[in-house]
Amino acid sequence: MKQEEIYDVIIVGAGPAGANTAISYKKLNPQLKIGIFDKALFPRDKSCGDAIGPGVINALKRFGNEHILDSEPEVVSTTLFGPKNIGIQNYIPEVQNKEDSVVYVIPRLDLDNRIFNLAKSLDVDSFEEYRYSGFTRNYDESLNVSFKNASGESETFKTTILVGADGANSRVRKDLNLSQNTDWHKAIAIRAYIDSPNYLEIFKERSLMFEINVSALRGYAWAFPSKGTLINIGIGMPLSLFKKENKNINEMLDDFVQTLESRGVIVEDIRLEKSYMLPFASSRPKLAHDKVALVGDAGSMINPMSGEGIFYGMESGFLLAENTHELIQNNRGDINKGIKSYEKSFNKRFSKHYLSCALARLVLQSPYMTQRLLSVASIDQHTIDFVVELLFDEARLTIKEVFLLGIKFLSPLWLLRIIKNK
Ligand SMILES: Cc1cc2nc3c(=O)[nH]c(=O)nc-3n(C[C@H](O)[C@H](O)[C@H](O)COP(=O)(O)OP(=O)(O)OC[C@H]3O[C@@H](n4cnc5c(N)ncnc54)[C@H](O)[C@@H]3O)c2cc1C
Repeated sequence: MKQEEIYDVIIVGAGPAGANTAISYKKLNPQLKIGIFDKALFPRDKSCGDAIGPGVINALKRFGNEHILDSEPEVVSTTLFGPKNIGIQNYIPEVQNKEDSVVYVIPRLDLDNRIFNLAKSLDVDSFEEYRYSGFTRNYDESLNVSFKNASGESETFKTTILVGADGANSRVRKDLNLSQNTDWHKAIAIRAYIDSPNYLEIFKERSLMFEINVSALRGYAWAFPSKGTLINIGIGMPLSLFKKENKNINEMLDDFVQTLESRGVIVEDIRLEKSYMLPFASSRPKLAHDKVALVGDAGSMINPMSGEGIFYGMESGFLLAENTHELIQNNRGDINKGIKSYEKSFNKRFSKHYLSCALARLVLQSPYMTQRLLSVASIDQHTIDFVVELLFDEARLTIKEVFLLGIKFLSPLWLLRIIKNK
């Protein structure tokens, strides 16, 4: 063991959740000794839609790091398609608590490297090509964390807190004897990049295109414009249905490409197809353990309606640092209390939002309900704003909201039109 390396916090995984955990600890308390380890050599690719919204912008702004988004083109609207070709375009609504109602689409190869570089610039010890292999507990209540380095040698480091930020197949989570999400609470999705010289012309502007219950029955497909002619496309569905219907993810992507072409989008050079799992927040494991915490996908934090996970992962890292940094510095015995209050703050902030998104997911899994929702939303601005807020913000269903939506669902469309025109 490297005896000289005694860390306050060791983070396994340098994706957005892990990197923002490191940034948050260092910004809140520069004296802490933080080590961050990843099995990959950065920049590294990650299968993703690459869309980051107001939440991520706000998380970067918290510590003055929004400059990493400079010169990126802004996406200003969403276009939703449902069964029977119902399509609606809507501006990204003004979101609560956040100043920026825009979205950026930045390939994760690049975005994650930029966030990791922010952590590296803060005197965080970073170790790439270090694969986590396990941890043990010492008599003095510290932990020994072991890794295999690029040469295949084992190295062990001592720490006060261990953070599992190692993504959807988290080994740290496994070592805590926590099972993975069941297939019902997981999706499988595939991402690819294409070039499209006419995408912006077809959608009239930089618009995120979502297709619900069309190419992927009970799932959704997307086309998100990045820089120039680069478009991130993909498709996903709940894993339980995917297995039950014996689907092939590559064939699903081919079908979606055909749908895009049928809408007039020129699709060139389909490349870098990559599929991966999305553990939904509708079933979260315990995040707080004895001197160990889970953040990001390792703690199943993905929005079950939109598939968004970067924001929740980054925010969980901040909440963990906020609730524990003083306790670590003062070497107080109640660090576990801080880890527990991290879990409490996270749940307090997001539980109702996740529940609302899980309910919306159930509605959107029915082609009939999707069609009905989009028909209502095409007439009623409040409904479309609410759907888009669930996608990008922390919106939650209140009893009043359920009541209003219920009435709109049950009312004939002609009546809604008359009310709208009044
Ligand atoms: C197809 C698809 C589309 C998506 N689209 C979006 C989207 O548009 N917007 C959005 O916000 N979210 C999206 N998501 C979800 C998003 O990708 C995740 O929520 C996000 O990456 C979670 O960040 P993280 O830091 O927790 O994990 P990750 O980004 O997965 O990072 C985990 C890190 O841990 C490292 N690691 C893993 N195991 C070990 C080990 N044993 N030892 C050391 N290091 C290890 C990995 O190399 C990796 O760098 C999508 C997901 C998928 C699959």
